Amino acid sequence: MKAVQYRSIGAAPEVVSVADPEPGPGQVLLEVSAAGVCHSDIAVMSWPAEQFPYRLPLTLGHEGAGTIAALGDGVAGFEVGDSVAVYGPWGCGTCWPCEGGRENYCVRAGELGIFPPGLGAPGAIAEYMIVDDVRHLESLDGLDPVRTVPLTDAGLTPYHAIKKSLPKLVPGSTAVVIGTGGLGHVAIQLLRALCPARVIALDVSEDKLELARTVGAHETVRSDDKAAGRVKELTEGRGATAVFDFVGAAPTTATAAGCVAMEGDITIVGIGGGTVPVGFGALPFEVNVTAPYWGSRGELREVLDLARAGAIDVHVETFALDDAPHAYELLHSGKINGRAVIRPNG
Ligand code: NAD
Ligand code: ZN
Ligand code: ZN
Repeated sequence: MKAVQYRSIGAAPEVVSVADPEPGPGQVLLEVSAAGVCHSDIAVMSWPAEQFPYRLPLTLGHEGAGTIAALGDGVAGFEVGDSVAVYGPWGCGTCWPCEGGRENYCVRAGELGIFPPGLGAPGAIAEYMIVDDVRHLESLDGLDPVRTVPLTDAGLTPYHAIKKSLPKLVPGSTAVVIGTGGLGHVAIQLLRALCPARVIALDVSEDKLELARTVGAHETVRSDDKAAGRVKELTEGRGATAVFDFVGAAPTTATAAGCVAMEGDITIVGIGGGTVPVGFGALPFEVNVTAPYWGSRGELREVLDLARAGAIDVHVETFALDDAPHAYELLHSGKINGRAVIRPNG
């Protein structure tokens, strides 16, 4: 089959031919209908050899959806032909976070060598993929795989982040979304669906700010060193109740720290290496700062239910498998609006 692989440190991803995978006991073989392209892959492909945590070659893609093509021995609960989305942050399934469905925080994954698809295990940007266990599958139940596949990360990750701040996002509150790309444009829609907060979106690109307005941002602000001041003005000096930073680089974490309100939340989702100093006087009183990773299985189900209710419209740009390397180039240069989705089987 064809697969898109990162093969050597610093090289661009390539379309290659690899052996057709076969499901072992307990595993499921998916014919991939759709696979999302995440900016995290670009970060992964920029890591130097001494920091690189996975084996190469690596088939990319940690957002996957497809049709079940074969079931390994002992698999029950799904049938060949079912249309499913893949919960990506695989864990051991039995430690205490895993038992609660929070496999994103599995305490044993490292020790057991368990990796998410596309982030260590063979990923979704291929004609077929192996899913380790049926507990990682969610039925699509009528949802379109192409428009839904980004919800497994670009939806689930902001959903998990936003959910933690919901008690504070009461009428009169303000939520700031920094970076309105794949994750950010879904975050705006989640905020609009889940709470009455006023949403202010920040980006460096006018196209992205336009998309932010289209999907429900009340205000848009150009992301520069004046952005924090602009958010303060828009909130009559009070600042933002919650700031969700989907860039996470030094200039944006500084903006987050500069515009958060007392008792507010700063959530750093982007992996751009920025930090926020915490300590008495470093931030307004009683600000919470957190940096979450992905989300739980139950939260993925909730996001899919929100999509079924019509609350989320992911903007997708679709590509054939052969064009996946080009999709990565476009994402790298900021030219994807919404999420790039690869369709490996047409
Ligand atoms: P993306 O490329 O689709 O979107 C990034 C957006 O940020 C773009 O719209 C870009 O124009 C904008 N941007 C760039 N610099 C900016 C700045 N200085 N100020 C404001 N906006 C700026 O990326 P994505 O796939 O949505 O991923 C977003 C980030 O989230 C990445 O860092 C990714 O690695 C990370 N991520 C983290 C998790 C997690 O679990 N913590 C999960 C998925 C992705
Ligand atoms: Zn991702
Ligand atoms: Zn576990």
